[in-house]
Amino acid sequence: MAPTGPAGLEDKPRPIVVSGPSGSGKSTLLKRLFDAYPDRFGFSVSHTTRSPRPGEEDGVAYNFVTKDAFKKLIDENGFIEHAQFGSNMYGTSVQAVKSVAEKGQTCILDIEMEGVKQVKKTDLNARFLFLQPPSVEILEKRLRGRGTDKEEDIQSRLAQAEKEIEYSKTPGVHDKIIINDDLEKAWQEFKEFCVPEESS
Ligand code: ADP
Ligand code: 5GP
Repeated sequence: MAPTGPAGLEDKPRPIVVSGPSGSGKSTLLKRLFDAYPDRFGFSVSHTTRSPRPGEEDGVAYNFVTKDAFKKLIDENGFIEHAQFGSNMYGTSVQAVKSVAEKGQTCILDIEMEGVKQVKKTDLNARFLFLQPPSVEILEKRLRGRGTDKEEDIQSRLAQAEKEIEYSKTPGVHDKIIINDDLEKAWQEFKEFCVPEESS
């Protein structure tokens, strides 16, 4: 019998896992992608215990849940992967990926490093893209410029960034690494990875 994936995705387009330090530009580039190809890609809406930022809509940016609700979903085996990031929990539910795949869309996951490691152990057969800031100093400026995080959160995100960048150097963990220096250049590379036939 053919192996059954965590969400029965064997004959669906391969998911794309986008990772990279907080502030590396994942949301910025993903917004461009979804705007440019609204039907082709679907976002895996994660669960998180963190509070919404201004403008983040529940069920769109994330499913914002309590710690108890998050733990309940872990107990019910509802997550493909989950991890703690700073003081909050984040996770990709089986349902999030399944609902994108059911529409025939390529599923996009925006997740951190521990989640990447866990997805690699599943048979999601994902492609992995890492977004790298030009330097940690520039990352810090961008995180501050975004104006969404408290000082302690910025410090914790920068510490985590060092770990993510270190892990990205492990040979073979990512199919593509894009340095997000000039946004237009990064966008071209991002688009080429996600929509390869347009550049061939
Ligand atoms: P992430 O989703 O990875 O946490 P964001 O997309 O929120 O990162 O980007 C962090 C901040 O950096 C945002 O304010 C965004 O506008 C800015 N930014 C993203 N890419 C660039 C770039 N190439 N040059 C300058 N600023 C950028
Ligand atoms: P933020 O709080 O900035 O939205 O996200 C913080 C970090 O959590 C980012 O690196 C983001 O990629 C990651 N993240 C978001 N959703 C998930 C998820 O479902 N699983 C994991 N492991 N990480 C996630």
